[in-house]
Amino acid sequence: SIKLSARVQAVKPSATLAITARAKALRAAGQDVIGLGAGEPDFDTPDHIKDAAIAAIQRGFTKYTAVDGTPELKQAVVAKFERENGLTFSPDQILVSCGGKQSFYNLAQAILDPGDEVVIPAPYWVSYPDMALLAGGIPVYVHAGADQGFKITPAQLRGALTSQTKLVVINSPSNPTGMAYTGDELAALGEVLREYPRCVIATDDMYEHIRWSDEPFVNIVNVCPDLAPRTMVLNGVSKAYSMTGWRIGYAGGPEEVIRAMKKVQSQSTSNPTSIAQVAAQAALEGPQECIGTMLTAFRERHDFVVERLNQIPGIECLPTDGTFYVFPRVQGLIDRLGTVNNDLDLAEYLIERAGVALVPGSAFGLAGYVRISIATSRDNLEKALDRLAGVAG
Ligand code: PLP
Repeated sequence: SIKLSARVQAVKPSATLAITARAKALRAAGQDVIGLGAGEPDFDTPDHIKDAAIAAIQRGFTKYTAVDGTPELKQAVVAKFERENGLTFSPDQILVSCGGKQSFYNLAQAILDPGDEVVIPAPYWVSYPDMALLAGGIPVYVHAGADQGFKITPAQLRGALTSQTKLVVINSPSNPTGMAYTGDELAALGEVLREYPRCVIATDDMYEHIRWSDEPFVNIVNVCPDLAPRTMVLNGVSKAYSMTGWRIGYAGGPEEVIRAMKKVQSQSTSNPTSIAQVAAQAALEGPQECIGTMLTAFRERHDFVVERLNQIPGIECLPTDGTFYVFPRVQGLIDRLGTVNNDLDLAEYLIERAGVALVPGSAFGLAGYVRISIATSRDNLEKALDRLAGVAG
């Protein structure tokens, strides 16, 4: 047999993609499985975005583009950062990639040396630790349970930072918890980070637009502008415009890091797909009402799901600030069932016995919880909650 690299053996495939694939396979085999694992909006990509891509194909815009994105799309990203985030970047400080996933991957490859530590608040998006590991980095987890609203404290952050820390990741609103840091909370974290000038900060703002709060969105550079020279702002069109399959993400940050990330990209994928770039430009520059339509649906489903979950014995669910996930504690249900030992067993049990597919909290670094995606129809959610209530007895 062929010996695989130590590097690839150190990482695992995405747990969330695996559960979605499993639910699909069971459905294809004729089982009635409701998928609550999805990490993508259940809405169609808006028509004006599709039309832009179709027109791009028809006019022959189907060749290589600049590695870092077309000048037009980069300009649209610059304008977006200015308009929505009050952040000023030059085009040289922008890199467009094949999804937010590649943005983070490029960043890890560009700045991490073997042994460098990456501080990751847990629960975390499943890909941060593995992408850090692929780059030779060492994930350092800071745990934040429901008792602290799934948000790390400045004291916890200080406890995790060392002279070896190269990167700190902030994801707000968070996948999987749905929680967002307030400006004050970010300022307090920023104060700690000021003491560690070697450390780069990544703010993953992918869920910026999927938020219920009336307060404007803020990230750490908004409240600590002095940290801008070492902060990478990561975002993309996947979640805001229901464009997960188009694979367009983007990063804004210090030019030297962007240039290094671009070099990584130039030796892996080259440019993101030309026609997807045109679509992303249409998304950023076109009408924004489509976001509000999705947001209203997500919010209604959120209110419904949180209320129903909290009525089920053994399940406790905090209301979230945004995203299309809720992250209930299910330890009580695990204890009641007796036949399952942990959240991994519970997820298995639910998919087999109740026809409900969700992702165990352990995949995100917090056992005793599960992630439920509300990016599915109200009907599906009602059915799934009836099934969960049935299991709990
Ligand atoms: N960041 C977070 C927190 C996410 O949840 C995701 C997608 O699941 C991404 C980044 C990457 O999104 P994409 O690569 O689909 O643009």
